[in-house]
Amino acid sequence: MQPHSFDLHQLNADLHCHSFVSDGTLSPSEVAARAAQHGVQLWSLTDHDELAGQAEASRAARELGLSYVGGVEISVTWAHETIHVVGLRIDSLNSALVAGLAKTRCGRERRAREIGERLGAIGIEGAYAGALARAGNPDLISRTHFARFLMETGVCSDMQEVFAKYLVAGKPGYVPMRWAGLDEAVNWITGAGGVAVIAHPGRYALSANEMDALLGEFKDHGGVGLEVITGSHTPNQYREYEEVAKRFGFLASRGSDFHDPVESRVEFGSLPALPRSLVPIWHDWF
Ligand code: AMP
Ligand code: MN
Ligand code: MN
Ligand code: MN
Repeated sequence: MQPHSFDLHQLNADLHCHSFVSDGTLSPSEVAARAAQHGVQLWSLTDHDELAGQAEASRAARELGLSYVGGVEISVTWAHETIHVVGLRIDSLNSALVAGLAKTRCGRERRAREIGERLGAIGIEGAYAGALARAGNPDLISRTHFARFLMETGVCSDMQEVFAKYLVAGKPGYVPMRWAGLDEAVNWITGAGGVAVIAHPGRYALSANEMDALLGEFKDHGGVGLEVITGSHTPNQYREYEEVAKRFGFLASRGSDFHDPVESRVEFGSLPALPRSLVPIWHDWF
């Protein structure tokens, strides 16, 4: 791959993004091309709870001369909060991982029908059909597909606004979900030869004590990484989670969380490098 003397911190790694296999809008090959075009050198496609894009992503990366590692972003329920755990360098054919993800996905259709009913009750018709048309597969319907329907039908003009008004806890289109357990997600990832990383820690509504409890449990289960530089963090949060990663001894990861050329706030390859004080999660991959 790369000569071993290169600067690991300067490697342009993007280890968190989505294709239309989950709630992104581009194909895995289109995502690969966009990542390469924007200077990414080490890439992982991490669709939500689904591995169907992995073969195409890996093939496209090879053709573009981009280093690729298998990836996934698993939805977890921990203490009434939804937490996302990214698995990197996984074997995407591992049967326990494949089965675990299928189990994690299986409540999406029922939830989506209920979101549709709840939106219908406040006068927004056709939301389930609209979200399904955008997702293509009932097992993969996410709130993002509802958000796109609500924007395209003029109910809202902005992604953040749609979520805040309709799709988060306490709002009319919110339906609670029970996702995978934290231990299950970490075990599926490590059992498939991968490393588990807590995605965008700054996004969770947890107190400082709860965050410490989450990270402690994650580490006890075998989790090793924390996303410090992500499109979901502000510069202050880069520094905050740099300290958290140091305190827990986590390896650090970096990813845009790209979903779509227009919706996504952060373009591939444009985030700052990882802080020098942290060890990149890819330190022993080359
Ligand atoms: P779901 O897995 O169906 O609950 O949908 C979660 C997805 O919705 C996330 O992966 C994000 O892509 C998106 N999302 C969640 N919250 C927001 C937000 N406040 N603004 C924009 N997108 C969001
Ligand atoms: Mn998403
Ligand atoms: Mn996420
Ligand atoms: Mn994501």
